[in-house]
Amino acid sequence: MKKDRRHVSPARWGEATKLVRGGLDRSPHGETSEALFINSGFVYDEPETAERRFAGEDDGYVYGRYGNPTVTMFEERLKLLEGAEACYAVASGMSAVFGALACQLKAGDRLVASQALFGSCYQIVTSILPRFGIRTELVDGKDLDAWRKAITADTKCVFLETPSNPTLEVIDLAAVVEMARRVGATVVVDNIFATPILQKPLTYGADVIVYSGTKHIDGQGRVLGGAILSTRKFKEELLKPFLRHTGPSISPFNAWVLLKGLETLKLRVLHQSREAQTIAAALEGLPGVTRVIYPHLDSHPQAALSRAQMAAGGTMVTFEVAGGKTRAFDVLRRLELIDISNNLGDAKSLITHPASTTHRNIGAEARARMGITDGMLRLSVGLEDTADLLADLRSAIEAS
Ligand SMILES: *Cc1c(COP(=O)(O)O)cnc(C)c1O
Repeated sequence: MKKDRRHVSPARWGEATKLVRGGLDRSPHGETSEALFINSGFVYDEPETAERRFAGEDDGYVYGRYGNPTVTMFEERLKLLEGAEACYAVASGMSAVFGALACQLKAGDRLVASQALFGSCYQIVTSILPRFGIRTELVDGKDLDAWRKAITADTKCVFLETPSNPTLEVIDLAAVVEMARRVGATVVVDNIFATPILQKPLTYGADVIVYSGTKHIDGQGRVLGGAILSTRKFKEELLKPFLRHTGPSISPFNAWVLLKGLETLKLRVLHQSREAQTIAAALEGLPGVTRVIYPHLDSHPQAALSRAQMAAGGTMVTFEVAGGKTRAFDVLRRLELIDISNNLGDAKSLITHPASTTHRNIGAEARARMGITDGMLRLSVGLEDTADLLADLRSAIEAS
């Protein structure tokens, strides 16, 4: 018999409880861990049931592209964590970004975005959306005057990423939301680097938040996935009609992996952030390292803002070595523990050279504008012992 849980009020649970139990919907078998429903279709006892579901009068499932019980559990858990009214899970972080923007924009609309964007987000804003007649403008996200000038009365949507990849620039969420509000523009925040644990854009009035489940939510390099958090109205009126028919559905298996990833998300992100802060501080004093960027270090130009906006500095550390690309590549080659990989948010520490990988396609000019130099390396701090990671970095940099 199913236990009566009518009096349980998950919205009042603490964050750790939400992450472990949020959205749990046991089948009649009473499994401990969440069940994985790996079917694409659903059957109905009566033709009237099918009719009611298609009419939207019964919220049961009709087809895998529209929904799946495992996917629903993932959506409910993430929604609870974020404190959002609605969540829509999708196949990847990029389908979340594209879906959140394309579902609301049409030819002639204007989109303003911060320029320091993840490579594929940059492509969507600068080349894909303009092909559909959407006017886009990029601004320096740190410069509030630039936002003020760009967010004009005809701006429909504002898109930003904070902290940004790979330069970890911090954008003042409250200030930009306030400007967008004045003209009635929707604010979409890519909160992937910050994670739902460290930064809560909804509390600053943001309308839509996008995640790549691939990063910290999985956290162990297994699956792709993404999610869009919004109001119920945004999901029902804009996301559903766009995503159901264009089809970037998440695989139930991937949703199941991400659901399990959420259970340990807080532990991992807080631990990895502490490690990242220690490593960033240690790198600052190292000969050969010309610059260290970490949001909560005193040396970060927006340290005060990032401390106010984020509960910790995050799991990413960006640093620059003297000697450009040659030295940066030499450091990468000499690392024995930390892997060369453009992925991030993983239990394994990963490092990449943004100028030749993630930010290669945007071109030298855009890289210069975004402050991405040839000697820059972006480190995603994992769950290994800090001492081992530091020893690896120290010996590689010293020997290079
Ligand atoms: C990884 C990432 C994305 C895209 O997510 P995918 O799951 O790879 O599609 C978007 N924005 C940022 C900031 C990211 O780090």
